[in-house]
Amino acid sequence: MGFEMEVRYGFHGVGQGLFSSGSLELLSRIPSRKFNWVYDCGTDSSQRYLDSALNDLENDIPTLGVGRPYLDLVTISHFDTDHISGLVKLLGRFDVGDLLLPYMPLWQRLVIAFHAHRAHSSRLTSFLVNPVAFISAVPEANVKRILFATGGPPLEDPPRGADVPREPKRPPATGEQDEKRRGMGPDFAVVDTEELSDLDAADDRRLDGEYMKRAARNGTRVAYMRYRGAVVVAGCWEFLPYNDAQLAPMASTSFRHQVSLLRDDLLGGVKAVTTRALIALKALYTAEFDFVGQRENQNLISLFLYAGPISPGVTEIYARHVTSPHGWSFMLSDKGGVLYTGDGYLNTPARFNSMQAFLCSHRVDSLVVLQVMHHGATANWHAGLAGKIKPEFSVFSSNPLHRGFRHPHTVVSNDFASYRPLQASKGVAVNVALWMF
Ligand SMILES: [Zn+2]
Repeated sequence: MGFEMEVRYGFHGVGQGLFSSGSLELLSRIPSRKFNWVYDCGTDSSQRYLDSALNDLENDIPTLGVGRPYLDLVTISHFDTDHISGLVKLLGRFDVGDLLLPYMPLWQRLVIAFHAHRAHSSRLTSFLVNPVAFISAVPEANVKRILFATGGPPLEDPPRGADVPREPKRPPATGEQDEKRRGMGPDFAVVDTEELSDLDAADDRRLDGEYMKRAARNGTRVAYMRYRGAVVVAGCWEFLPYNDAQLAPMASTSFRHQVSLLRDDLLGGVKAVTTRALIALKALYTAEFDFVGQRENQNLISLFLYAGPISPGVTEIYARHVTSPHGWSFMLSDKGGVLYTGDGYLNTPARFNSMQAFLCSHRVDSLVVLQVMHHGATANWHAGLAGKIKPEFSVFSSNPLHRGFRHPHTVVSNDFASYRPLQASKGVAVNVALWMF
C-alpha cells in the first residue's frame, strides 16, 4: 500500500458502557505523527473504571511536556449515559480537534429528549437541545470544531453483483490537493465538510447550525460533514460515519412546525425561556404520542463509524486480552478496518443491507474488529449477521454480570462464536494492535 502503519484499537474496561480509543502512526514518515481518536466515552458501571481508563489513555498520548494531550477526532454515537457519562471529564483533560456528533434536526432532538423522560433542566435535555452550548459550557473544554454527520435520504435496495461501485468516490487528487491529502502539507487530516455558509438559505440545517453556533466559545467552529464524506488521514486512512437517520422516530408536521416557530426560544440561550418552550412542546407531543407501554427509543439514533486503510495491504495482527494470558497472540490477515456501531440497529437484513450499501462491501469485508451493537443485545441483531460481516474479532463491551441487562445475550454471543469474541468488562480491556505494510 506504500505506507507502513501501526494501528491500535482499544476497548477500555469500563463495564456496562463503551469507551474505545485508537491510534494510527505512519512509520514511514519522519518525524512520525500519530492520529488519535475516541469513539464514545461512558459507562453505567462505577465511574472509577472510566477514570482509570482516562488515565491510561492520557498516559498513551505523549505531550512532550507541553500542554494537554490531543485527540484528533472524538465521535459520540448517541446520547445515552452509558456512552457519554465520561464526555465532560474527557473534554476537561484532552484538547480535541474534531468532535463528531450525529446530526438530527431540532424537532427530532426534542423527541429523543421527551422519550428519555428527563427533567427539562437535565444534562441530557440540554445536550440535545443545543449540543454546541453544552460543550461550550464545559469548563476547560478546548474543541477546535464540532462536526455534525448528517443522515441521508432513505436508502433503496443496494445494487447487486461484482460491479458495485466503491463509493464514496473521491475525486482524483492533484498537485497541492494531493500534498494535503497525503498529509505533507499543513493539514494532516482532510475532512469533507459543508460550512454553514455553503448551505442553501432554505436548508433547515443552516438555520439550526447558525443558532447553535452562537453559543460556541473559545473559537470552536461548527460545520456539517458532507453526506458520504470522510475524514482522510495522510491520504492513506479513512473514517466514514454512517448516520442511519431514516430509522428516526417520527413526529407530526404540526409538531415539527411548532418547534420551528419556537426555535428562537429553544436556542436563544435564556434558560427560563427554553424551559417554557420545552414544557409547551412536551405537552403537544404527549397529546400526539402515547408513552404508556413504550420503551425508550433514543437508541434508534446511533452514529456508526468505519475506520480503515484506503488501500489494502498485509496486516500483522497482535491481540491482547485475558483470553491470551501469555501476552499478545499473533495472526496474519489482509484486513485492517474497524466498525464501531455504538447502540446501532442491524436487526433486520434490510438495515444491514443499507449499511453495507453505504459503506460498500469492500469495507465491510475488511474488518479486523467489529464492536458488536448495543453491548450484544438481541434487539439490535438478526440471526446470521456475524457470518455476513466475518470480522477477525468481535468485541463486546458490557458488564456480563449485570443482573438487568445480561449483555451480551447468549444468541448473539453464539452467532459471533466463530469470529473470536472478546469481552471488555469491568477492569478488563481488549487491545488489538496492527502492523500494516
Ligand atoms: Zn449503550
